Amino acid sequence: VGGDVKLGGVELYVRNNAPSAVDLSDNTNLWGPAPAAARAIQSASAAAATLTRYPSRYSDPLKQVLAGYVGVPANCIVTGCGSDDVLDSALRAFTNPGDSIAIPEPTFHMMPIFAAVNGLEVVKVPLTRDHDVDADGMLAAGARVIYLCSPNNPTGPVFSKARVDRIVKAFDGVVIVDEAYVEYARWSAIELLEKGERVLVARTLSKAFGLAGLRVGYGVGAPELVSQVEKARGPYKVNALADAAARAALTQDLVWVRERVEEMRATRERFVKALRRLGLSVLPSAANFVLVPVGMDPVKLDAQLRLRDVAVRPFAKLPGIGDAIRITIGPWHLMQECVDALEAVLPRVERELPDLTRQRMELPA
Ligand SMILES: *Cc1c(COP(=O)(O)O)cnc(C)c1O
Repeated sequence: VGGDVKLGGVELYVRNNAPSAVDLSDNTNLWGPAPAAARAIQSASAAAATLTRYPSRYSDPLKQVLAGYVGVPANCIVTGCGSDDVLDSALRAFTNPGDSIAIPEPTFHMMPIFAAVNGLEVVKVPLTRDHDVDADGMLAAGARVIYLCSPNNPTGPVFSKARVDRIVKAFDGVVIVDEAYVEYARWSAIELLEKGERVLVARTLSKAFGLAGLRVGYGVGAPELVSQVEKARGPYKVNALADAAARAALTQDLVWVRERVEEMRATRERFVKALRRLGLSVLPSAANFVLVPVGMDPVKLDAQLRLRDVAVRPFAKLPGIGDAIRITIGPWHLMQECVDALEAVLPRVERELPDLTRQRMELPA
């Protein structure tokens, strides 16, 4: 089939998502969905009235609400079927096949896939030793588009404002800043939009708002820029139910989100302490997950944890970090189960793998 040639390097998205009672593998909101959004979905009248008709072509009512939330005019917003859709459409809008895109390494695993689907070369620029973006490396890549992710998935830290600022000022192509986890962080690249006509900030309701199943994402940038993304995206990408629920969440659930963020931060701190007591080191995190280098096969470790009904996300041989697992932070009882499972599994592994024993003993208490 013709498609085989073009998409030769691209595979369907596969991951181990066998159900686990304690699923800490995908960074969704384990405190649940934003409640007003859930009520909007359940309200039969809202659904029945809208299902036969097409939704708003470019989500104008939702853009109005998002504009208020972000603090920009509505013509600076583009919506999408998840922020994945915004990222993919942005690549289509701002590149031609054969162009290249610079991305940090490691970063969001979908970016090389969106790049491949859009016929782009990927230049991977390793993070600095302190897990920040290498601004000079990014600029030196000679790419058409620079992709940044802050807080960065899967490492956790935000990129420093000074470095992102430098990239935005010095680069003459489009800079995409993926802020899927921005509600958990302390700064946003939105404040750099005034300086950069070519900055697109991509965000989502999938994480802090707890609405991953609805698939609502958005991009923020200069009006000419977002309208290019909108052309590449096409009309009708946010369905009517998702649109109604997203508007409800963005108007009624902001306090709920803020409170869950505070709870997550406190739980993350407590969880990191518990991991350190197990002899593990943890990367600093500004998001609702932590990355934990494990010094052993992370896929096997995940499999062992899954036998105890705890699922995490394994990352083998991450550049600059090594084998690691990424653990989503949720309510404490789930984190306690994760700690218990790690405690049960790690010593047994240790006996099999003397290297790990050594590494764990060298770590600070
Ligand atoms: C989860 C995630 C997204 C995808 O969000 P959707 O809006 O659900 O498509 C985008 N970027 C990063 C870094 C993520 O972790």
